[in-house]
Amino acid sequence: MTSFISRAQRSPSTAIKRGLRGRCPCCGQAPVFAGYLKVVERCARCQERLGHIRADDFPPYLTILLVGHIVVPLLLITEQHYVLPLWTQMAIWPTVTLALTLLLLRPIKGGVLGLMWALKLRGDERH
Ligand SMILES: [Zn+2]
Repeated sequence: MTSFISRAQRSPSTAIKRGLRGRCPCCGQAPVFAGYLKVVERCARCQERLGHIRADDFPPYLTILLVGHIVVPLLLITEQHYVLPLWTQMAIWPTVTLALTLLLLRPIKGGVLGLMWALKLRGDERH
């Protein structure tokens, strides 16, 4: 079965948006993940091959970068305006960090997968 769009029509922004929503970067209809982070081998709708794309460490890198830029300012703002006991802060900030990381990692991996698909990257290219 052929793809809905030709390889020349791959739009990075559309593919990233579809990936961020956890959808196939090619058709935007079927889920791109079979589990939390496991990418399906082929799209269930358009049969586009996706399982061979290796995003490796880029999604975790982007997630850490984003979560750090959210949590650290929140922590500093809270520190300036409130006097919280240390045990409270030790309960809040690791929990917020873990929750944001788990919340953002999947859509970010989908977005990276969409970008890689649009650019025809597999993740095993030699530099
Ligand atoms: Zn598809």
